[in-house]
Amino acid sequence: MKQFHFNYQNIALLRKELQKIKMWSSSAMTSHIVFQILTEILDKKTIGAICSEIEKELPEAEYFGCSTNGNIINGAFDGTPVSIVCTLFEYPSTKTEFFQYELTAETSDLVAEDLLLKISERPWIKAVELLTTIRGMSMTGFCEKLGKSSPDIQIFGGGAFNGQVDSDAACVFSKQGGWLDRGVVFMLVGGNDFYVTSTYITGWKPLGKYLRVTKAKGNILYELDGEPAYSVYYKYLNIGNDLHFFTNSLEFPFFYEHNGISLLRAPSSSNADGSLTMTSDIEENVTARLAYGDPWTILDSVKHEGQKIADFCPEIIQIFSCAARRTFWGISEISKESMPFQNAAPTSGFYTSGEFLRTDGFVNQHNVTLVVAGMREGEPMNKPVKMEVDTEDFAGSVSLISRLANYINAAFHELEFIALRDGMTKLFNRSESQRIITERLESGKPMSLVMLDIDNFKSVNDTFGHKEGDNVIIGLASLLKSIAVKQNGSAGRWGGEEFMLFLPYELETAEKTAGEICKGFSDICFEKAGHNTVSIGVTQAIPDESVDTLLLRVDTALYEAKHTGKNRYVVK
Ligand code: GH3
Ligand code: MG
Ligand code: MG
Repeated sequence: MKQFHFNYQNIALLRKELQKIKMWSSSAMTSHIVFQILTEILDKKTIGAICSEIEKELPEAEYFGCSTNGNIINGAFDGTPVSIVCTLFEYPSTKTEFFQYELTAETSDLVAEDLLLKISERPWIKAVELLTTIRGMSMTGFCEKLGKSSPDIQIFGGGAFNGQVDSDAACVFSKQGGWLDRGVVFMLVGGNDFYVTSTYITGWKPLGKYLRVTKAKGNILYELDGEPAYSVYYKYLNIGNDLHFFTNSLEFPFFYEHNGISLLRAPSSSNADGSLTMTSDIEENVTARLAYGDPWTILDSVKHEGQKIADFCPEIIQIFSCAARRTFWGISEISKESMPFQNAAPTSGFYTSGEFLRTDGFVNQHNVTLVVAGMREGEPMNKPVKMEVDTEDFAGSVSLISRLANYINAAFHELEFIALRDGMTKLFNRSESQRIITERLESGKPMSLVMLDIDNFKSVNDTFGHKEGDNVIIGLASLLKSIAVKQNGSAGRWGGEEFMLFLPYELETAEKTAGEICKGFSDICFEKAGHNTVSIGVTQAIPDESVDTLLLRVDTALYEAKHTGKNRYVVK
């Protein structure tokens, strides 16, 4: 396949370009032609004129496109409003088909279902590229449905936008469906000789504190750590809840795990009640962190992740890069992250209001991300090129942002360690232990608790002194730590000489572990206090029970062990 990129200036020049393509396609091997029209301006008349001209000069050609926050042609940001990308498919076996739909919150499920049906009827499909309007709706259900297609089909695309980041207006259009203000257009592509690969790159890194989503419904994020979600932006970044919120917060999205991968999610608006409207649904009880971008980190990710695309030896590369990245870099620097791809193959694309990519079967909507797809017909013609990024301005140095972020993260981890641990034993403290138990219980995954108390500890203190008592506590803590590590669990100091071990297993393993602790501890010979023993209670979490019930049960088991001879464990 071949690709030509040019920007639109006027109809006469467009006609010349189309005639060149016509000549080229009749002299060279061409099976069919697809135009992608990318426009920063929502000018129906100009786009209409371009489409008519294509239909006139190349009546067999397909075309589709959308409004954008800026276009990428030949690997670089193109300053002109309308860019045209022409792809010539060379293999007769390669097929493309286009479908366009109106897309609203009400129709999105039906659209996805209809597309799934069309996909299932076309076994030749290898990839689905989508251009879609997004603003004002949650794309979660739509993405989930698309993820039900055969998992070997790659799905990628971008959200339509316009030149102004604070405006919602957008459109998609195609030969089949005309112009839609709220719509989606799909290009289905495949065939025996067509190959495709895709990946995503962020370069954004999480910063500072973990924030728990304590209240969310659909795509409205109400509370983080029990506070209005917006207050995080005010408290940590001094961003006001005003008209500029969207532009100011764009570069500081949330970083969190969804469908097993790390996603960035930027709010699309802040509301008067302090909640944030997101472009996709947010689940309660997930943890999120603010994220920041840094030019060095971004270029480093482009180099490493981009190499996967280069290794595929693509003939063309498509980029769907978030408008936030354009804002972040600024016009003069933005091409630094797309230009490296141009060395691998002609690279085109646009700045989006959301990026779509299928990863591990799931279709995710990303924000602040660069989704990139490489396509090829036939076997690779050349050796893969090596991805090189332009770091000449700052080679060998690290940015101030990066150093400050590193400082914040290091200081945060130190403070977090102090806040969550017991000073003497370095095991989790009581409140963190309780949080771990609650979180595990709510997850519904198996958990056993092992609660221990040193036997006759008062007499250790009384006979050998408090210092030796401390040594005994530290000795037990270090035994518990090594057992916890070995068993993928964690250990906490519940208080005084009482400890709690959380094991991600059913009772049987926990029981064995309790035996190991009894034996292991009584084998230790302390300098003055000699051999000591522990009593242990063991229990397993029952689905849907409360934390209090669970703790009471393990406490009762420990009590029973104490009252039936000590140096033993009781299972409840
Ligand atoms: P039992 O077998 O019934 O558990 O008897 P016990 O003597 O161990 O009784 P209990 O558990 O009530 O005693 C706890 C003692 O542990 C009382 C307290 O002085 C001591 N203790 C609590 N924290 C520390 C500590 O950090 N260091 C030292 N040295 N002693 C501690
Ligand atoms: Mg005690
Ligand atoms: Mg005791």
